[in-house]
Amino acid sequence: MSRPSDYVDTNRLWERHMTMATYGATASGGVTRLALSPEDAAARRQMIRWAAPLGLKASTDAAGNMFFRLCGSDPDAPPVVTGSHLDTQPSGGKFDGVYGVLAGLEAVEAIVAAGIKPRRSIDIVAWMNEEGSRFAPGMMGSAAFAGARALEDILRVRDADGVTVASALEQTNELVPNVPTRPLGGAVHAYVEAHIEQGPILERENYSVGVVTGIQGKRTFRVVIEGEAAHAGTSTRQERKDALMAAMSMIQALAGLLHDDADVVKFTVGRLVVVPNAPSVVPSDVSFSIDLRHPVSDELVRLGDCIATVCAQHAGPCEVKVEELSSALSLEFPSSMKDRIRNAADRIGVRTMDIYSAAGHDARYMHDICASGMIFIPCYKGITHNEAESALATDMADGARVLAEVLVELASSES
Ligand SMILES: [Zn+2]
Repeated sequence: MSRPSDYVDTNRLWERHMTMATYGATASGGVTRLALSPEDAAARRQMIRWAAPLGLKASTDAAGNMFFRLCGSDPDAPPVVTGSHLDTQPSGGKFDGVYGVLAGLEAVEAIVAAGIKPRRSIDIVAWMNEEGSRFAPGMMGSAAFAGARALEDILRVRDADGVTVASALEQTNELVPNVPTRPLGGAVHAYVEAHIEQGPILERENYSVGVVTGIQGKRTFRVVIEGEAAHAGTSTRQERKDALMAAMSMIQALAGLLHDDADVVKFTVGRLVVVPNAPSVVPSDVSFSIDLRHPVSDELVRLGDCIATVCAQHAGPCEVKVEELSSALSLEFPSSMKDRIRNAADRIGVRTMDIYSAAGHDARYMHDICASGMIFIPCYKGITHNEAESALATDMADGARVLAEVLVELASSES
């Protein structure tokens, strides 16, 4: 019998990435495809066009996740799920997230071409809002699917223009009509996610596939400071409640506290909103984001727990509120999944190395509900969340070949 990996088509996989990249294409070769935007809807419609001729059944759930199912011979057996996300950062690239969805499609197309009818169904999933740049925090769809976050809370989240997830989702469903709905969540046999590494290691070490050992933990916060608007010329320093001065003092104190000589802690303030943001008005309201990561869960907990206290200490005359938006400890994928990926790659002559994921992925939430694993492929110089993001067609094909083998194994397994 021929192997499914033999049917992976390097060129088709590459071309599909180029087609996907037209939905939200930027002038400098990147992609802006925010979650639940018209571009996201166009990408979803494209997926339907590719999936339909393969006989895959499209469906969507209440959290806006989209599924494409290759039906197994035992429809009652929990499915094997593979995929990632179609949304990008505001100036993102052609491969982050998209690769996992299209590698899943390629793997399933190869399985069909090899004449294999697996026992379990295989679902290719495009999770809603992984990036979290339009609606924070990210990984909303997988969190809702896995029961880590309540759907009602997610639907209430607003973007910078005040649009809720609920209304953006309604709009997306109008733009992608006639897709049957399926219940949110449900039993899953196993989850495998393919993704670009988003770091330089695989490329430097010259491996086309990395077996992901685990994911670095992350806590995100929103700090909201309330001061008072005043005239920049007439109000004295004594009288001022300058929310931006308070924010600066907090950020500086946090940067000091979170500085480690070993350079392991990752502390980022990526978003700062100043109100009224006028040159001659003392800022009345400031909010900023905190993204804190550490591979050791205990350290992540300890450091994150200091944030509210440090902010309160540096608030000066202003009021400060620190809200934790998400908390995910560092995790290790089960050996059974890592071994399966390693062995499948071995069998088809793809060399692998073990690699730790410093970035978060939807697999984090799936790990809570089923055996999960990830496959990384190299990306050019580790550049990501950037319009220059790139990957090699041959590496992409190697990842899809390994994925195809792993999916067939998982889909035929009894337990
Ligand atoms: Zn991603």
